[in-house]
Amino acid sequence: MTLTAAPTDFDELVGSLAIEGRAFVDGAYVAAASGETFECINPSTGRAVARIAACDAEDVDRAVRGARAAFEAGIWSRSAPKQRKRVLTRLAALIEEHAEELALLETLDMGKPISDSRKVDVPLAAECIAYYGEAVDKVYDEVAPTDPSAVVMVLREPLGVVGAVVPWNFPLLMASWKIGPALAAGNSVVLKPAEQSPLTAIRLAALAAEAGVPDGVVQVLPGFGETAGQAIGRHPDVDMVAFTGSTEVGKLFLRYAGESNMKRTALECGGKSPHLILEDCGDLDAAAEAAAWGVFYNQGEVCNAGSRLLVHASRKDEFLERVVRVAEGIRPGNPLDPATQMGPIVDRTQLERVLGYVAAGEEEGARLALGGSRVLEETGGYFVEPTIFDSVSNEMRIAREEIFGPVLSAIAFTDEAEAIRIANDTVYGLAAAVWTDDVSKAHRAARAIRAGVVWVNCFDHGDISAPFGGFKQSGFGRDKSIHALEKYTDVKTVWIALR
Ligand code: NDP
Repeated sequence: MTLTAAPTDFDELVGSLAIEGRAFVDGAYVAAASGETFECINPSTGRAVARIAACDAEDVDRAVRGARAAFEAGIWSRSAPKQRKRVLTRLAALIEEHAEELALLETLDMGKPISDSRKVDVPLAAECIAYYGEAVDKVYDEVAPTDPSAVVMVLREPLGVVGAVVPWNFPLLMASWKIGPALAAGNSVVLKPAEQSPLTAIRLAALAAEAGVPDGVVQVLPGFGETAGQAIGRHPDVDMVAFTGSTEVGKLFLRYAGESNMKRTALECGGKSPHLILEDCGDLDAAAEAAAWGVFYNQGEVCNAGSRLLVHASRKDEFLERVVRVAEGIRPGNPLDPATQMGPIVDRTQLERVLGYVAAGEEEGARLALGGSRVLEETGGYFVEPTIFDSVSNEMRIAREEIFGPVLSAIAFTDEAEAIRIANDTVYGLAAAVWTDDVSKAHRAARAIRAGVVWVNCFDHGDISAPFGGFKQSGFGRDKSIHALEKYTDVKTVWIALR
């Protein structure tokens, strides 16, 4: 079934999907050991669409034991890379075969427009799994250039049990960014999706089993961060945690690791990415389009959202006018309608958080140039209109804290040095962009800005072959590209003396 218009019967649509809400452990769907469940709420109506297993420490323990047993048995961890390639390639194909179902689950669960789920999230998830499948039988170990009296092999070995804790903004894609390289490297994975968005991860588990991933190698445990998430972080038999989410929770995972077994921790955390428009920017229309979509895409619920717009003072008014014009064309609406470009905020808590920041911006003296309100309240959904603040100073909370909603803060600067200083005046360092027609200025800015990705004359462009991750408190470790395989392996030196 592919929707060509918004469905008229919501209940019929939900019923047709036969939504699974249980955990997936050792090859089968199971209830939480406690029997507890929680409601999965559709954010565009405020209505429940499924009940989800509320896994806790007992379930984590069981899943880790199963994952460890599978790892030690070697059925996956010691399989030939080309065998893992076959299975991961099959999984990618199954994601494509089930694309419409996964897209509908994603949109029902977290509210992103169905057109984005179809065109972005699901295809990129399949591409990611296929990429790591394809890569794994093409990466070689090394022989160190030592004295010829020895052969010194430098081997990369899987870590063992990897815990993956992921957020709600790109649920299937973030799960794939973790699972793809972790599985390709030979690990077992215990995945905890966010409480707001567990549906596609739960479905992915069955597709992985169907593709041939052995029992125990992919375990999916829906549940809450403070229970299931913390139990993964503290488990003595989890070898590594790969986390995407807030900086605050990222720091907790460092603490959990330090207080348990010093497990490796890779963190992809928050951002407050600067989007710089230098005085000589030639194509203001293209830059305005990028600036608007750079913060309003996915309702602004994007870790690398260009939420700080730094514009040269001499061009600020004409530029902001253009950004406002683009933003006025982005109207929130039913995310199941293929024409909708912006859906609701993920849940009531996040809605209140976003509106709280709008109020803070006004109190701190920023000028509201567009939006600022909840809309479509009669639907029961959590919609917020695109919001733009002008006359923001980098000291205001709306310029310093990650809002994770459709709120843009425009800040004026007077020269390149000041622009770089403001861009770097943040605890974050996930991404940045600079628009200029001068190639020297572009290179200078790209080197001077402390961020994991710097775009020049574009925003949010990416490819599975290009690493993604942060500097500073945006975390460490890279997702995507061959580099992601590094964090799911340990380096072993084998020194063979020749007689
Ligand atoms: P969190 O960082 O809290 O959630 C990310 C993941 O961590 C979820 O799976 C969550 O579980 C889990 N988690 C939460 N608390 C704990 C804990 N104490 N121990 C272990 N795991 C935990 O993000 P939120 O969903 O709370 O969103 C809050 C803010 O975080 C947003 O407004 C945004 O600023 C930021 N954020 C940033 C993201 C990014 O990609 N940079 C992604 C998501 C949020 P559960 O959801 O089930 O509680």
